[in-house]
Amino acid sequence: MLQDCFEDTIWKIRPEGYTVKNCYNWLRNKHEDVWWCKAIWSNMGAPKHSFIAWLITNNALMLKSRLFQLHIAADNICCICQLQEENHTHLFHKCVYSSQILQGVGQWLCSDLTQSYMLLKIARSRWGRHRKSICSAAVFNCWYAVWLQRNQARLNRCIVVPAVVIAQVQQAIRSRYCLYKSYKMSSKDRAWLIRVHLESN
Ligand SMILES: [Zn+2]
Repeated sequence: MLQDCFEDTIWKIRPEGYTVKNCYNWLRNKHEDVWWCKAIWSNMGAPKHSFIAWLITNNALMLKSRLFQLHIAADNICCICQLQEENHTHLFHKCVYSSQILQGVGQWLCSDLTQSYMLLKIARSRWGRHRKSICSAAVFNCWYAVWLQRNQARLNRCIVVPAVVIAQVQQAIRSRYCLYKSYKMSSKDRAWLIRVHLESN
């Protein structure tokens, strides 16, 4: 029935004719892919981590800086460190808590994950495909953990120490790698995976 409907209009003049994919792309008005698209929606990222990472990348989480502007929160101070304004850059990058976690996970992966615009730097780096997807997924795991701990701090006034979060992120990445690893890899990727103990000699 949908096909009949479109055949009289736009689909008659399109050379590819009617398909569900064409119809979906026409209805949603397909745009250019954004640079972070492949990193966030890759197999290495668990869906809940990818979703929070997508919100963070678009500055779309309702943090205290925004809640304060909307007169919903009494202040705009970071729930974790209680020192700086709680915005996306601070909470997920500059806060002493998140920077310790990113530093610890980065040391394990022999990759600096604490730099500004980390995702962009990973995407534009000369690292192998595996290293890029694992390091991006590790950053998303860290962000998700920080987001959970931030909510714990806000609601229950308690958080776990960074060392515990780092161990949890390592375990999550190892499990995800076992599930979704590809056996096609460059020698550069293989050497790195051995160095971080995700592959053995
Ligand atoms: Zn903070």
